[in-house]
Amino acid sequence: MGKDLERLKQRIPLLDFLQRHHWTGHHAGARSEFVGLCPLHEETHPSFYVNARKNLFYCHGCRRGGDLIRFVELALRLSFRESVDYLQQQLAPASQLLQHTAGFYQLELHHYPEGIHYLAQRGVQDPVLIEELGMGYARGGNLRPHLRALGYSLELQLQAGLIGRQGQDAFCRRVIFPCRQHDRIVNLYGRSIGSAFPHRLLPRSKGGLFSWESVRQFPDVILVEGLLDLAVLWQAGFRNTTCAIGTHLTASQFAQLCETRDRCVYLAFDQDDNQAGQQAALGLGQRLHHAGLTVRIVHLPAQDPNSYFAAGATPSDFAHCLEEAPSL
Ligand SMILES: [Zn+2]
Repeated sequence: MGKDLERLKQRIPLLDFLQRHHWTGHHAGARSEFVGLCPLHEETHPSFYVNARKNLFYCHGCRRGGDLIRFVELALRLSFRESVDYLQQQLAPASQLLQHTAGFYQLELHHYPEGIHYLAQRGVQDPVLIEELGMGYARGGNLRPHLRALGYSLELQLQAGLIGRQGQDAFCRRVIFPCRQHDRIVNLYGRSIGSAFPHRLLPRSKGGLFSWESVRQFPDVILVEGLLDLAVLWQAGFRNTTCAIGTHLTASQFAQLCETRDRCVYLAFDQDDNQAGQQAALGLGQRLHHAGLTVRIVHLPAQDPNSYFAAGATPSDFAHCLEEAPSL
C-alpha cells in the first residue's frame, strides 16, 4: 500500500497537478521552490509554497501543508480513501481514453459545420461557452483509427462502449458533451442531430450532477433535464443551473442537492404532453421537500428551457418564470 502510494505520487507530480488545475507559481529562492496564491483559502498575497523536488506544499496563510493526496483531500473535500481513488482513476486507461475521445470530438466540431449549425438552431451560439463546456461533434466512423494511432486497443474501446460489438462508433451524428467530475471525464453524452434516438450516454455511471463543483456555491439552484437546457441557461447568465441528464437522480446526485438545507431548488423539467416531465418534477420535488429543502416548480410557456430560449426568450423572461414558480 505504502509503495503504491509513493508510486502514485511520483506518477502525478504535485506541481504538474496544480498547474493543470490553473495554479500559477513563481520561483521562490531555491530552484525547486515555487510560490503563488493559495488555492485552499482566499488571499491576495501569495503564501502557498510548493517544493517540486520533495513533492510537498505548505501555505503560511492557512497553515496547511502536505503531499498531493493531502492537497486533494483539502481542495476537493474528499476523504483520504476517496482522494487516492480519485488520483488512481486519473491514471486509469479508461479515464484517459475518454479524455482523448472528448478532445478528438471537440476538434471535429470545427471540421463539420452540421454540429455548429445544430447548436445554433438550438440557441447555443457563444463560442466561449462551447469551448468551456468542451462540446464536440461525432461524425461517426472515424474514431477508431484516431484512438488506435494513440495506442488504445480495440478491447479497451469496446469496454468503454465507444465502439459497438459490430465495430460501429457509439456516437454517430451527435453533438457531444463531456460529463466531468472534479475535472475528470466520467462519461460522454451524445445528442443526435438526426433522426436517431436523441439521447445517448456511454454504458457507465453518469457521475454526479453536471458541473456541481461550480454550481454548489449558489444558494438557489436550477435543475433541468437536458444539457441543451443547461447550455442555453448558462449562456443567458444562469450559472446556477445543473443537470442530472434525465429526470431520474441517482442517490449521489440527490445527496448533492441535499448537502445544505438552506437551498432552494427550482425544477425546470420538460412540459410534456403526456405529463411525464411534470410528474417527475412533482415526485422529485416532494422528496426534496421532505429532505428539508425549498422547492419551486417552474412553468414555462414552452416545452423546455432550451426551446424557450431558441424561440427568442430573454434572460428576464426566464427570470420572471422563476419569480412566478410556485413553492411546493
Ligand atoms: Zn492557504
